[in-house]
Amino acid sequence: MQIVEVLIEYAKSSLNRPFSYCYKGNKKLVKGIRVLLEFNHRDLIGYVINVTETNLNLEQYEEEKGFSISEIKDVIDDVPLLNEELLSLLDEVSSYYLVPKISVLQSMLPPSLSPRKSSLKAPKIAYDQYLEVIDESEEDLTNKQIELLRFIKLEGRVLKRDIKQVSIIDKLLEKNRIQIVKEEKRRLKVPDYQYQTPPKLSEDQNKVIDEFNNSNDSVYLLEGVTGSGKTEVYLNLSEQVLKAGKSVLMLVPEISLTPMMVEYFLHRFSNNVAILHSELTPAEKYDEYRKIAKGDCKIVVGVRSAIFAPLKNIGLIILDEEHTESYKQDNLPFYHAREVAIMRGKYNHAKVLLASATPSLESRARGQKGVYHMLYLTKRINNQKLPTTKIVNMLDYHNIDRDSYIFSHALRDELHKTLAKGEQAILLINRRGFSTHVTCRNCGHVFKCPTCGIALTYHKKDNMLKCHHCDYVEPLPETCPECGSKYLMKTGFGTEKIQEEVERLFPSARTLRLDSDSAKNKSKIPEVIEAFRKKEADVLIGTQMIAKGHDFPDVTLVGIVLADIGLSMPSYRSNERAFQLITQAIGRSGRKEKPGMAIIQTYLPSHYAITFAARQDYELFYRKEMEMRKLQFYPPYAYLASVTIRGKSEETVIENTIRIVDFLNDEFLDDGQILGPSTPYIPFDMGLHVRAILIKFKDPKKAHDILLKMQELFAYNSAYELLINIDPYNF
Ligand code: ADP
Ligand code: ZN
Ligand code: ZN
Repeated sequence: MQIVEVLIEYAKSSLNRPFSYCYKGNKKLVKGIRVLLEFNHRDLIGYVINVTETNLNLEQYEEEKGFSISEIKDVIDDVPLLNEELLSLLDEVSSYYLVPKISVLQSMLPPSLSPRKSSLKAPKIAYDQYLEVIDESEEDLTNKQIELLRFIKLEGRVLKRDIKQVSIIDKLLEKNRIQIVKEEKRRLKVPDYQYQTPPKLSEDQNKVIDEFNNSNDSVYLLEGVTGSGKTEVYLNLSEQVLKAGKSVLMLVPEISLTPMMVEYFLHRFSNNVAILHSELTPAEKYDEYRKIAKGDCKIVVGVRSAIFAPLKNIGLIILDEEHTESYKQDNLPFYHAREVAIMRGKYNHAKVLLASATPSLESRARGQKGVYHMLYLTKRINNQKLPTTKIVNMLDYHNIDRDSYIFSHALRDELHKTLAKGEQAILLINRRGFSTHVTCRNCGHVFKCPTCGIALTYHKKDNMLKCHHCDYVEPLPETCPECGSKYLMKTGFGTEKIQEEVERLFPSARTLRLDSDSAKNKSKIPEVIEAFRKKEADVLIGTQMIAKGHDFPDVTLVGIVLADIGLSMPSYRSNERAFQLITQAIGRSGRKEKPGMAIIQTYLPSHYAITFAARQDYELFYRKEMEMRKLQFYPPYAYLASVTIRGKSEETVIENTIRIVDFLNDEFLDDGQILGPSTPYIPFDMGLHVRAILIKFKDPKKAHDILLKMQELFAYNSAYELLINIDPYNF
């Protein structure tokens, strides 16, 4: 008989200890496989972490041990899902982030192989399912259902997996408003590109590559201005690593936003490349995963979770745009791809290359201290100049175009010139929708979200009011619900309004819009970007999505319609975010032969995040922001961990949060600052009350021990759920 220790998939996040089961069958079990078992009268998946052989039979075994033991119901896998390296990575990640191993496993493995119940049904070959409207009537529908119905109608046909509100789809199907059309899924379509001969490297690129190759350091930070040719450095280094018989892991923030990176790698390395990102179907993920595990591909290009790709013998791990926050997972297991990259780098004796025009402060500070090896690309390719920039003070009414309170004279004039020359422009506003507030002119009633209390945003295309925090929606009524007045006023503006404004002021300009509304249909994003690159439009209007690493040769004007949005957000990272966004956006301008221009409209014309971004001066911003962080004891001067308590009863939640705060104060004494209990901006999460604690500390080892103790003392409680987030971002 074999005895297995298993980790169990279970909703409660705090469950991290293994359970013992026996197996009487004749297969030889190994650690790393999944088994089906019964736990609390439910069928669950277990993940085997240890196997021992015994000569005793069940009765004797139970007698000797003094407890009873059940038999597993079925063996799911024959061979382990993870190789030795990933098994040890599993331990390392789970212990660093103080999270359950099972949650790490669920991030590591593709859906079809994951130790979760649904994985048994997850397809190995899939179908594409499309939604189509069959009946437009909105009678008896809820607001959410109307929103989705209008969306599908406007789009014509929508991939089912692009729509996350599954229950709403089900209701619309039930009510016979829409139907599902099934089409057999093509395997991941990877175009067969011609090999592209690399360009001759610039002197600066060569210098960086030589310095990288001649050093024995393990982690590098490449600070390279926008348009300095970082991609070519990645490609060149990857080529060398492949030649040396090793493999390459290339991480990008989001594939749909940066399809170019995948294309570059496909051009250079064709079918040696596997692609891993969240838009793949479970079947595609399974295919790519197997291909990598079998060693058929030596290069993986992918997003955050691709850091767990089963690539062997890694020689190089690259994180493009390393400052991007999507590298940090915002829910269990809360890992950051950069830290995991460094763990894997160590195990594989591989080098890790972090790169950005605007490195995160924590990485740049490690570079300063020599923990990371700094590399610089200070000039654009061919010495192309960085764009000329102009800050426009929108508080001064002389600067504002009377015919359009959204545009300044400067931005309107420059846009006019750009269009007249047949060149392209990008307009950035970090807010989607049409207007920010809708108010009644008669009684002053403001339309607010009933759950969050914040003002609803008007969306003109489907004529609905939407909450940008939760997913509450309602159709815009004809009259005020308070006084019945017909005069409803829309103030503030977002992407939708800017698009309308451009079309009004420049009737012959062709516009495209890219924000999370227009990209609700995720497969649309690369299409919009491609259309703009092919010059099928003159002006691209969008949110931060359009600031990411794109390389549009004909864009010579970037207009930041309102640079202030985000600066007032209550987060220690808000200055850094604003600086990065503005710098990255400006960097889209004038990247090829033609010189670029950028106009920054703002109500805070002397804020350092804005002035230094306008000067494209990362170093000055870095120094100033470091001073602020030092004063306020925030990263990189302190480490952070947050603890979140969620539960049904507000009283219980508060009581226990206070107990935990007391415990932490006693343990940390002067070695840490404990802030809280605080009520998060949104105090509810799926019907549960939430309270949070923020811990700032200097000594991560000591903090780790204290948090571990806290977890043991407080996490195993059925009245609430306790989540630890190491290095949290949203505080
Ligand atoms: P970054 O990622 O640093 O913003 P990119 O890698 O997108 O910059 O490079 C900017 C542009 O310069 C791209 O169009 C790229 O094809 C081009 N480029 C890069 N290296 C070279 C080179 N050595 N010779 C000519 N063009 C280059
Ligand atoms: Zn009213
Ligand atoms: Zn809301």
